[in-house]
Amino acid sequence: MRTFLIAGNWKMNAEPSHAAKLAAEMVANWSDKSFSSEALICPPFISIPAVANAFDGSDFKTGAQNVHTEDNGAFTGEISTSMLKDAGCEYVIVGHSERREYNGEDNDVVAAKARKVISDGLKAIVCVGEVLEERKENRHQAVVKGQVETAIKALDKSDAESLVIAYEPVWAIGTGETASPEQAQEMHEFIRGLIASEWDKETADTIRILYGGSMKPANAEELLSQPDVDGGLIGGASLKADSFSEILTISESIKS
Ligand code: PEP
Repeated sequence: MRTFLIAGNWKMNAEPSHAAKLAAEMVANWSDKSFSSEALICPPFISIPAVANAFDGSDFKTGAQNVHTEDNGAFTGEISTSMLKDAGCEYVIVGHSERREYNGEDNDVVAAKARKVISDGLKAIVCVGEVLEERKENRHQAVVKGQVETAIKALDKSDAESLVIAYEPVWAIGTGETASPEQAQEMHEFIRGLIASEWDKETADTIRILYGGSMKPANAEELLSQPDVDGGLIGGASLKADSFSEILTISESIKS
């Protein structure tokens, strides 16, 4: 049985003082009840301590949006796995489409980051997804296959428990457009099949595959109800405590 992971990606939003308030609001929304899904927020690096501090003693978890593959040294502007761990992170998003687009991260870079994250004891959320043109040309599965297989080949089957895949069709990120539940399910099932052929079905069945792309309270139920959708990677709707809490509530109602 896979536990839902409801993950917020705050991108370059929420300076430390605002982040502390927003995280505290999220905790307050659940002060008199608990959840069995995992709930995670990935703030900008500088706001990680504020969020980790606000989440201390709660079930909310903190993550990061990126990391470097080296341990330390002359890499100006970068951040290491040990720094993230020390600051209270449990997860790291790697290969978000915005990093692939604006920072030139290709499949090999993303795979190396995933390997580094997992070998240093953190969990990796590896983002994959096609752009609109690729879907229109019916190349979406081929593109995602390349992204998933490159990451999987850099890892070992024993890394599976620290691996999460996020399917984020790029045309649905921040656009208000959402993949239909059928489109999401079709791709998630395809991804699980790729993992099964690389490793095995039993292992593939344990890996959580999140959907990302304009997930919000209004569409979360139909997306999260799909058999291979194991949670969400949520941008815009995670920047409001109430909408994030609502999605978390929806995930709880689906499971029970
Ligand atoms: C994201 O940042 O990964 C994302 C899915 O953003 P949004 O929910 O705003 O589309």
